[in-house]
Amino acid sequence: MTKFAPNEVDLGAIRAWLRAARRVVVLTGAGISTESGIPDFRGPNGVWTRNPEAEKLSTIQNYLADPEIRRKSWRARLEHPAFSAQPNAGHDALVTLERHGKLHALITQNIDGLHLKAGSSAGLVIEVHGNVHKVMCLDCGWKGPMQHALERVRAGEHDPQCRECGGILKSDTISFGQALVPEVIDRALRAAEEADFLLAVGSTLQVYPVAHAVPLAKSNGARVVIVNAQPTQFDALADAVVRAPIGTVLAQLCAVAA
Ligand code: NAD
Ligand code: ZN
Repeated sequence: MTKFAPNEVDLGAIRAWLRAARRVVVLTGAGISTESGIPDFRGPNGVWTRNPEAEKLSTIQNYLADPEIRRKSWRARLEHPAFSAQPNAGHDALVTLERHGKLHALITQNIDGLHLKAGSSAGLVIEVHGNVHKVMCLDCGWKGPMQHALERVRAGEHDPQCRECGGILKSDTISFGQALVPEVIDRALRAAEEADFLLAVGSTLQVYPVAHAVPLAKSNGARVVIVNAQPTQFDALADAVVRAPIGTVLAQLCAVAA
C-alpha cells in the first residue's frame, strides 16, 4: 500500500492509475461537502462529534413517534446549510473527471445535492441516501419540492402534513432505521463491481451497505484509493490512502486524469 502523509503533493502514482483506468467509480461522503460549509457527522467538527445526542434524533422511529422531534426536525431543515451551500473544488473536480470520459458512476451518501448542482450528470450520480431538496409522505409515498414544505413551516405550520392523505412528511432522505431503496443501492453496488478504479472520498466508510462498495470493488480487481483526513476500516486494503484536504487533492488528481 502507498500511504501519503498530510500535505504530500506527489500524487503522480495515483494520476497514472487514473489515466489507465476505464471505469472509475467514485464514492463520496460528508467530507467532500465540509469545504462548502456543511458539517460532517464524525469528523472533528462533526454534528455527532459535538453532540452525541443528535444521532438519536436522526432515527425514523423517533421521528414517527414523537411530534416534538418532527417540530425540531422542521426547524433544523429551515436552517440546513444544504439550501444555501455552493459546490466546492472537490465537486468541480469530479465534473472534470466526467468530462474526461472516465466516470462510470458517482455514488454519494450525501443528501445535499451538491454533485448535481456542480454539474455532474444525473444519469451518473447515485444518491443512496436520498436528497434533502425533496419531501415525501411516509404514509402514501407522495413526493414534492422541499421548498414548498419549508414555506408552510415559515408560515407557521410546525409539522406540516401531507395534503393528499394527512400523513407525516419528511425530507426524501434515508434516516437511520429506514430501509434503503433496493433499486438504488443495487445499482450502486453493481457499479462498484464493474469499476476498475474506485475512489472513496470523505467518508468514514462505516455506514452499510454502501461501505461494502469498497471491498466489493477490490475483490473484483479494481484499484482502490481512499482520500480522507481520518483513518477508515478499509485503509489496509486500499492501494493508496491520501490524508489531505479533499478539494485540493481531487483538483490535482482529476485535472490530468485524461
Ligand atoms: P462521516 O461524517 O462519517 O465522515 C466524514 C469524513 O470526512 C471524516 O472522517 C472526516 O475526517 C473527513 N473529512 C471531512 N472534511 C474533510 C476534508 N476537507 N478533507 C479530507 N477529509 C475530510 O461521513 P459519512 O461517512 O459520509 O457518513 C455520514 C452519513 O451522514 C452519510 O450517510 C451521509 O448521508 C450523512 N451526511 C450527509 C451530509 C451531506 O449531505 N453533506 C452531511 C452530514 C452527514
Ligand atoms: Zn400522504
